[in-house]
Amino acid sequence: MKQVEVLIVGSGIAGVTLAWKLYQQQKSFIIISQPRLSLSSLVAPAVWNPIVFKRMNPTWNASVLLDELTFYQETEKTLQVSLVQSFHIWHILNNNDEEKLWLNKKELYPRFLGDIKWIDKNDYPLLKHSLKCGEVINAGRLNVAKYIYHSLQFFQSINAYVEDRFYYDRLDVQENQVVYNDVIARYVVFCEGYLVKNNPWFDFVKLKPAKGEIVEIETKHYLLPENTILHKHISIIPNGKNRYLIGSNYDWTNLNEEATSSVKYQFLSEFEELFDVSYEVIGHYAGIRPAADRRPVLGQHPQYASLWIMNGLGTKGVLLAPYCAKKLYNAIYENEPIETEMHVSRMI
Ligand SMILES: Cc1cc2nc3c(=O)[nH]c(=O)nc-3n(C[C@H](O)[C@H](O)[C@H](O)COP(=O)(O)OP(=O)(O)OC[C@H]3O[C@@H](n4cnc5c(N)ncnc54)[C@H](O)[C@@H]3O)c2cc1C
Repeated sequence: MKQVEVLIVGSGIAGVTLAWKLYQQQKSFIIISQPRLSLSSLVAPAVWNPIVFKRMNPTWNASVLLDELTFYQETEKTLQVSLVQSFHIWHILNNNDEEKLWLNKKELYPRFLGDIKWIDKNDYPLLKHSLKCGEVINAGRLNVAKYIYHSLQFFQSINAYVEDRFYYDRLDVQENQVVYNDVIARYVVFCEGYLVKNNPWFDFVKLKPAKGEIVEIETKHYLLPENTILHKHISIIPNGKNRYLIGSNYDWTNLNEEATSSVKYQFLSEFEELFDVSYEVIGHYAGIRPAADRRPVLGQHPQYASLWIMNGLGTKGVLLAPYCAKKLYNAIYENEPIETEMHVSRMI
């Protein structure tokens, strides 16, 4: 039998980030995951954006969450791979009212909202029209597929990762520990994303999962500066030399991970409204975001003290994961309370 402190189920951004937190704190753990059962983390462009564009307000807890992102830089050092990149987001302003709102909010939130810029067609000849954009600062991207891939390789090298499906009926929940196959753990933390719907211990957690799709194109031309995302309804995100990701949408009805041609054509027509350029579609992906009520879902099972959950990262996995991993760690090991608005008990 192998004895560890924590058994983690799932290797999306939640499970992997929690594993790093435990690793840093020298707590033993093992991840059991079948990474392609849910593709959400693997397909996400993984932008962190501190602003909600609807009213140009900061996202929940934005400053605190941004401060926690140094976590990924520490992982970069351990893995010796580059994972994070700073970006600006050019949000297209459509009229005077939007400009006025931007300028008002910029006064209130100077950490996130920068100047209004004139993006001149003479400087970007493939743009169909010059654009007026508000610039979001302090945004960025995590190369999340690379983060997960290298992390799992590393965890495998220290015997802390098993690639396998987790079968709930094989988990023996005892008073102060759990037993699963040949693993004995003090705690199990479930990080299965939207597949928590299969979890009989946390079946009271009712998420509102949202499917999203991403199209990847390649052009022979330079469209945008390397560290600049253009946002209208969709975002156009540089993804390496002459490659761009376009997306995303929200579909709460068709909860499968199949890419659909209607969404692809919608994205491409929005792209073509902005740029006059030939391109080739080189990828089209779909995933299901584990969204709840715009707050994460963290905490201990109301009845079984060894069972914990880290879920509900929704549309903001990159911004939320380091903060949630820290909160969960402190709850398990320091007995620190988790705020009611994030606590799993609100779902009972
Ligand atoms: C199209 C799209 C675009 C997005 N864009 C962004 C973005 O730009 N920025 C951002 O921050 N977020 C974005 N997101 C959201 C982000 O991807 C999610 O917040 C994040 O993926 C949630 O991670 P998770 O680890 O909770 O869940 P998941 O990524 O779903 O991971 C769950 C893991 O558990 C495994 N698993 C589940 N059940 C079992 C089982 N029984 N046995 C073994 N393994 C199991 C799954 O295979 C998977 O590896 C986007 C999502 C989508 C779909």
